[in-house]
Amino acid sequence: MNKDYYKTGFNQGQGGFGGFEGFDFSGFNQGGGQNFDFDLGDIFGDFFGGGGGRKKQKKGRDITVDMELSFQESVFGAIKKIKLTKTSKCNSCGGTGAEKGTQMQACSACSGYGKVRETKKSIFGNFITERICEECSGIGKIPKEKCSVCRGYGILKREEEYEVKIPSDIDDGETIRLTGAGEAIKDGSSGDLYIRIRVKNNPLFQKDGKNLVTELNIKLTDAVLGAKYNLETLDGNIELKIPEGMSFGEILRVKGKGIPKENGGRGDLYVRINIKTPSHLSKQAKKVFEDLRGEGV
Ligand SMILES: [Zn+2]
Ligand SMILES: [Zn+2]
Repeated sequence: MNKDYYKTGFNQGQGGFGGFEGFDFSGFNQGGGQNFDFDLGDIFGDFFGGGGGRKKQKKGRDITVDMELSFQESVFGAIKKIKLTKTSKCNSCGGTGAEKGTQMQACSACSGYGKVRETKKSIFGNFITERICEECSGIGKIPKEKCSVCRGYGILKREEEYEVKIPSDIDDGETIRLTGAGEAIKDGSSGDLYIRIRVKNNPLFQKDGKNLVTELNIKLTDAVLGAKYNLETLDGNIELKIPEGMSFGEILRVKGKGIPKENGGRGDLYVRINIKTPSHLSKQAKKVFEDLRGEGV
């Protein structure tokens, strides 16, 4: 028997659930550290008919995965595919465990009640205890004919592929949740899939709110006289006009080349100007600079 199919099952691990006898809940965590993913509220709700308010459904385990994005993807968003092998509901039977076209019948072990009662004698008298029926996992019904794909378990391990829409302007460390894309269990809803975003650094750009910041090295003469430069942006290269008389550290703003905003607009790209001062001058060039100094420039 392939135990994998039972990984997230409710009544896995024989001694996990001992009914009401002695209210010994310490047994819940037995079974080699497996996550049973239910809390006491669920159980009391089940046993007392949900009289205490809302009844929480049992849920499969959540899954967390990392996803690496390029800087560009983190700015503009992207559609990414993610593949993972996990327990899912069987597509053939829809999770019921019954062969296609066949029906469910009342579980004979619990007469369709989902719980099994046992009467035990003690010095205080007879104790009636109830436990979840192991035959039907508490559902009260079992398939007349077991599904041939999942062998009646209703769930199985398989590879799933999800298409994930990454929103624009997402940052390193943020998490996206895909509801119901976690581990499935037979008699409850599936857990969720958490995608933890990792953004690769881009040495050219930094985020500043909805704006991007970059640097541009220009020649001293271009700073003085003005020029046109080829500038790399996330939308491709553009021609940037450097006005004459630029100072070191001055910032030029390129409108609309920043990060998308919720209202549809875009932030701006700020270009911080670095001026490269020549370290070696020809005799002629030096003469020119000396003449300029003589002029008081
Ligand atoms: Zn049963
Ligand atoms: Zn099936």
